[in-house]
Amino acid sequence: MLLMHDLEVSTSRFRSVVDAAYDAIITIDQQHHITLFNRAAEGLFGYDQEEMLDQPLEVLLPPAAREGHRGYVHQFARSPVRSRQMDERNRIYGLHKDGSRIPVEIAISKITVNGLVEFTAIIRDITDKVHLVDLLHRQAAVDDLTGLPNRREFNDVARSLFETENPLSILMMDLDNFKLVNDTYGHEGGDDVLKAFASIARETIGKEHIVARLGGEEFVACLINTNKEEALQIAENLRKKISDRDFSYSWPEDRAIPFTLSIGVAVKGTKDREMSNLLRRADEGLYLAKENGRNRVEAIG
Ligand code: GH3
Ligand code: MG
Ligand code: MG
Repeated sequence: MLLMHDLEVSTSRFRSVVDAAYDAIITIDQQHHITLFNRAAEGLFGYDQEEMLDQPLEVLLPPAAREGHRGYVHQFARSPVRSRQMDERNRIYGLHKDGSRIPVEIAISKITVNGLVEFTAIIRDITDKVHLVDLLHRQAAVDDLTGLPNRREFNDVARSLFETENPLSILMMDLDNFKLVNDTYGHEGGDDVLKAFASIARETIGKEHIVARLGGEEFVACLINTNKEEALQIAENLRKKISDRDFSYSWPEDRAIPFTLSIGVAVKGTKDREMSNLLRRADEGLYLAKENGRNRVEAIG
């Protein structure tokens, strides 16, 4: 009698702890059917406990993850490890009742009951953390002022494009007499020009190519599958558009500031071993364009 009472107390204590837990707690039996589904799990996945008991766990996984998950649990059942953090390198998602995916962190453990293995998963919603990490990744790759990829991001992408066999051209672009723009229209006016240029360049050069801000008033474009003739045409088209003010752009308070740019063009050749060779030649072209009077396009090689 006393023993029965002790058991009841212990069970009820266990129940309250599980239900008060901030993290979702789910247990499954050897057949991967749900045997416990706490309140936090109800909140996380949008199902009631009654709906989920005896259901296969897979209901809570995105379809693409189901097969892999089954194999993972089998492997864990056989391993000597009793508990572990689930695959920390990859993002894991749960499937909410409404069909949305929830990024989660999962700690799993196993116990053997009457010779059968049962599993417990403690699941934490990491949506906020994932948003923050994504934001930090984006911020590390993007220039704040113009929204273009920054130098680091450009180097990463351009290097991997260079590895392919496809034709590749570089436009090295620098705004002319930009110091004078700043002196005449103020630093804010200069910033407006940088934003305008970024927007016009991105639109003129096209989405299939990459336009990035290297810093200051220096920009670069990597033209994919583009030979020298085409690259020169794209460069000249952009230069002329800007010089002739033949573009539509809504300037702050309708105050358009005139500016021009110089462009150096280089095309990937058989002798180019590294992206840096190509960038250096484009830089030499830019230098030549400045020397020859600015508001010009020059190609090297
Ligand atoms: P050049 O035609 O030879 O390129 O002459 P330049 O005046 O454009 O070149 P220079 O390198 O002498 O000056 C670049 C100026 O760009 C100096 C710097 O104050 C300004 N600058 C750099 N970054 C920014 C920025 O983010 N905003 C603004 N407004 N100005 C910037
Ligand atoms: Mg300049
Ligand atoms: Mg410069």
